[in-house]
Amino acid sequence: MFNKSSICAVCKKRKAFLYLRASGEWICSRCLCRRIEKRVVKILKKKIKERFIVLGLSNTGTVVLSHILARFPKENFSIYTPYDDVLLKWIKRRYKLREVYSNIYEVQNRVWLIIPFSLEELSAFFLKSIMKLYYPVIFASKHIIFPLSSFDNQQLEIYAVYHKLPIIPRSERDLYDKLFHEIEEKTPTIRHQFISFIDSLKRLISD
Ligand SMILES: [Zn+2]
Repeated sequence: MFNKSSICAVCKKRKAFLYLRASGEWICSRCLCRRIEKRVVKILKKKIKERFIVLGLSNTGTVVLSHILARFPKENFSIYTPYDDVLLKWIKRRYKLREVYSNIYEVQNRVWLIIPFSLEELSAFFLKSIMKLYYPVIFASKHIIFPLSSFDNQQLEIYAVYHKLPIIPRSERDLYDKLFHEIEEKTPTIRHQFISFIDSLKRLISD
């Protein structure tokens, strides 16, 4: 959605580029990128002395996350790639990420697993897990973080364009994503609400 007359609600200087339906603000590309970086840094800084494994996927989120992680000490991060494609090879080379070869599920309790899912990807993933009764996928591990999950695909793509990074075409909507997409028309925050509902459930169960 474009509106040439809007000014960014954050910096109050630059021309706004994107309308955020969830918060009702207009924002410029620069402030959006900063917001994405701040969010990731805030989540990871709390655990900075620990080790992380990034799950490398063929999505824009993996590119964005690897770019942001470049500012952290390298020795804390490795990447695990369940398959190898041109994009993942490029990411590993460009950001000099060490590769983990062991089964990530075995080391999961000793390190944090970072999954670069966007808002759409995480909400559809959680819904699918519930529908298929794969509760353990959602609730078993406390060592998984989703630092990009407050940002939708479009926002991550703007980040990538702003930093001259590749954008990976989105995969076709699955059944679960379509369902959210329909409800979103009337309730723009549905995905955020769903993810925070799952977070509350997790806390309830772990108490
Ligand atoms: Zn701005």
